[in-house]
Amino acid sequence: MQQGMVNKELLGMGMTSRRTRDRLVERLAAEGITNRKVLETIRNTPRHIFVEEALASRAYEDTALPIGLGQTISQPYIVARMTELLLAGGPLDTVLEVGTGSGYQAAILSPLVKRIYSVERIESFIKQARARFQELQLRNIRLNHCDGGIGLPQYAPFDGIIVTAAPEGIPLALVDQLVIGGRMVLPIGMRDEQVLVLVIRTEQGYEKEILERVMFVPLLGGTR
Ligand code: SAH
Repeated sequence: MQQGMVNKELLGMGMTSRRTRDRLVERLAAEGITNRKVLETIRNTPRHIFVEEALASRAYEDTALPIGLGQTISQPYIVARMTELLLAGGPLDTVLEVGTGSGYQAAILSPLVKRIYSVERIESFIKQARARFQELQLRNIRLNHCDGGIGLPQYAPFDGIIVTAAPEGIPLALVDQLVIGGRMVLPIGMRDEQVLVLVIRTEQGYEKEILERVMFVPLLGGTR
């Protein structure tokens, strides 16, 4: 493909155009997202690249969309909210993401932190995400095919951890992989009664703050 065509596809047209993205960002700001860098990154990141072509025209609606195998790309509001919560403690060097999925959340984190390790239990998602990161020239994301419930001890500790599938309780293995003062943002609980939780690692253990109701797919064990 010619360079010009690639750029055109990334910039988007019509329903995926700059103006459509501007409207999404205005909406997120109205919903309470205040971090300018997060809003700018969402404006500059082509979400339509992270969904199948048939759904591209809906990529800038503030909703979760199916990505196959019963999984979803998170709603932009939730991506923005979790990202700003993660960054609220100051700049982050290394971040672990559990649940790569489409790769969109990792792409939003990419310009905002130094390095991301993103893990996913479904191998085909890893391959798709890798191709998308290459297309967008995002070079600070390392992908791993594994069960993220046990984290990535070989690269720990992390300054931040973001979990984009819901466990039933706080995974202590992940808390252990945070630096003291490090932050983890994650959904907790069963489908109908999930809440977003901020966990801050302390010398003795952790502190937690329950934030708002959310709806994520469950964190599952094993790989496929
Ligand atoms: N961050 C993603 C959201 C994808 S949905 C995005 O921006 O698109 C959550 C993802 O978590 C799914 O792809 C699911 O396969 C994955 N997942 C569920 N349990 C997991 C586990 N134990 N380890 C790694 N990934 C897991």
